[in-house]
Amino acid sequence: MKELLDKQIELEGEESRLYKTYQVEAANIRNEILLVKQKLANVCEHKEFVRENYIYSELYCKTCLLTRGAITRFIRKP
Ligand SMILES: [Zn+2]
Repeated sequence: MKELLDKQIELEGEESRLYKTYQVEAANIRNEILLVKQKLANVCEHKEFVRENYIYSELYCKTCLLTRGAITRFIRKP
């Protein structure tokens, strides 16, 4: 019985540590994605906007695939 409980506690601790590591890594990757999008927004000329064929679909740049809203947020203000 004690062996099983110890095993359970050990596994739960391991799961918890793994989950925290996952959360930190995922946050780092999300930040990197954000930086790439910021760069894209600033290097693309955004010449042509298109939208998907469904209601309320957002306009997005045909070249960099960023939405108009994202471009507005990411472009450096002078
Ligand atoms: Zn673009």
